[in-house]
Amino acid sequence: MSDRRKFLRFSFLSSAAILAGKNLFARPAANPDTKYPVIKDQPIVISTWDFGKEANAAAWEVLGKGGRALDAVETGVKVPEADPNNQSVGLGGRPDRDGRVTLDACIMDENSKCGSVACLEHIVHAISVARLVMEKTPHVMIVGDGALQLALENGFKKENLLTAKSEAEWKAWLEKAKYEPVKNIENLHLGKGGKPGDHNNHDTIGMVAMDAKGSISGACTTSGMAYKIHGRVGDSPIIGAGLYVDNEVGAATSTGVGEEVIRIVGSHLVVELMRQGADPETACKKAVERIIARNPEAAKQIQVGFLALNKKGEYGAYALQKGFSYAVKSGKEEQVYESKFFYE
Ligand code: ASP
Repeated sequence: MSDRRKFLRFSFLSSAAILAGKNLFARPAANPDTKYPVIKDQPIVISTWDFGKEANAAAWEVLGKGGRALDAVETGVKVPEADPNNQSVGLGGRPDRDGRVTLDACIMDENSKCGSVACLEHIVHAISVARLVMEKTPHVMIVGDGALQLALENGFKKENLLTAKSEAEWKAWLEKAKYEPVKNIENLHLGKGGKPGDHNNHDTIGMVAMDAKGSISGACTTSGMAYKIHGRVGDSPIIGAGLYVDNEVGAATSTGVGEEVIRIVGSHLVVELMRQGADPETACKKAVERIIARNPEAAKQIQVGFLALNKKGEYGAYALQKGFSYAVKSGKEEQVYESKFFYE
């Protein structure tokens, strides 16, 4: 058939389909199971780890008054960012192997708008710089000195993020540690003398929320893996890895060894599994199993946890190891839960 005849035939078929009420060019319909009815007036916020409880309370100040999920997640994660005693996020975060505190963060809204910063120094609220990237630039991701420059140009204050406690611990680490951040799982992924399940050397706050209008947004912010090579970026600022939001389906976020999450584009995977009909916990479990399938021996030595929320307001989590917790706040409950996990 000539190209012209093929074109004409295609045009004819398209017109016939449109006349019959079918649009061949429309996006394929999502699985009907994921076309959830939005439960109005039932906002909810969930976040990683037990310190998510205070962050959720701040987010609830926004959600409870009918505010937007995007404002809620930014407000929420700013709590651990400003807490000098939280050594895995923002001010007081553990430094890299050169003693520099470098932050990674991203944010995503109900319209798939997103912004991200990586390896940002001297600014407490990396999440707000990520929002600035989203709202005030045509870009998604700005890193290092460029991110700092953008923040300073927009009125953010330059601060020393290395607290005396984190500095003292880093100096103690320097005495014995080998400069092999990725291989040295014992010291760097789990903390000195750490066991699988411990999470004392790197955590992240990932938060997702649905507001009273049924709009979902998420935020994720961290100082990343302690004593990392300067410039190392984890999963947390990478849209699709550390965080993903699809307002038709739900949202997911992650914590743990970011390299493994990036390799499976974890949060996007969780959301896509929910789109196919999985409930949030099952979707998180399947993502964890994907990490194990890639490298079972390595997976035994590290921690990764996923947390997800669907459009019905259902939530769930799953982790490689014992010890991952998450916090939930809604009109009905305020709880910290222990996540289910793979390795008994
Ligand atoms: N996911 C973060 C990173 O790899 C750290 C963590 O959550 O513990 O940078």
